[in-house]
Amino acid sequence: MSMSPAQVLLAEKTNISTPSNLDNLTSIIDDALQHQHFSMVYQPLFSMQTSKLVGFEALVRCKSPQFGFISPDKFIPHVEENGQIIELGNWIFQQVLLDLKRFLQYGLKDITVSINVSSVQIAKTNIFDEIMTLVNKLEIPTRCIKLELTETALIQNPQKIAKVFNAFQIEGVQLWIDDFGTGFASLSLLREFKVDGVKIDKSFVDGIVTCNEDFTLCSAIVAMAQRLGLHIVAEGIEDEDQLQILNQLGCDTAQGFLLGKPVSFEENLRRWG
Ligand code: C2E
Ligand code: CA
Ligand code: CA
Ligand code: CA
Repeated sequence: MSMSPAQVLLAEKTNISTPSNLDNLTSIIDDALQHQHFSMVYQPLFSMQTSKLVGFEALVRCKSPQFGFISPDKFIPHVEENGQIIELGNWIFQQVLLDLKRFLQYGLKDITVSINVSSVQIAKTNIFDEIMTLVNKLEIPTRCIKLELTETALIQNPQKIAKVFNAFQIEGVQLWIDDFGTGFASLSLLREFKVDGVKIDKSFVDGIVTCNEDFTLCSAIVAMAQRLGLHIVAEGIEDEDQLQILNQLGCDTAQGFLLGKPVSFEENLRRWG
């Protein structure tokens, strides 16, 4: 079949711009996996009502000696596509669960730690057994663990995800929808999956003070989540006005640079331990 001029241009563009970049990133990630260039940071989450620390979101970092800091927004989609997320994801689970164990041992008793999970990990690994084996070995209470999946991840493989979710929920692990409201299936996902809570995406929080539509959408999301008995985290809070409005709307939990940036385990322990 012959290609249209536009298709030819697109094909050329893809050929020119992708292979060298992507090959490069793949080997940088391989190298990083071998030489421990990955680390985890933890961003604190606070109760809106009491302002107390309630937990952390675990976020991965990559610092290559040659290329410096590489953003997860750049390498996560890449490793999801080429399968490296499986090895990286396993490392992340192990590191985060070890750190969670240490947080609990050092006196941060009632905290939860949220782990970002990619749909590839659910499709291609036995994520349930892997996590539960570690959790049992480390004797971590399952209620301290939250798994975050984005809307896009949830629609990838709904049947398998529902099965895995169910198994986790029987064990008491919490399941959350990340970046809520940004996908095309937000409402039907709530019907299909029994989740514990939703995280309102930063893009709505950004405009909540200045943009009427964002304010209306946030209040509608919160009202709906409350009616459904779900918990609500607002993420990406950067100023006092945003915090105050989200609190008034009835969000349970606040996360954002205003309250705390993601920092290392040790730094969090110094601050909160
Ligand atoms: P996400 O899961 O939505 O994580 C929240 C992102 O927003 C984090 O960026 C966090 O540092 C940033 N953030 C939090 N509060 C604020 C704020 O007030 N202002 C601004 N400007 N940013 C804020 P980060 O760490 O760069 O991660 C980006 C994305 O990469 C994550 O978005 C997630 O999709 C992915 N990611 C990060 N760590 C992991 C991981 O361990 N596993 C997986 N599968 N994905 C991860
Ligand atoms: Ca997240
Ligand atoms: Ca998010
Ligand atoms: Ca996000």
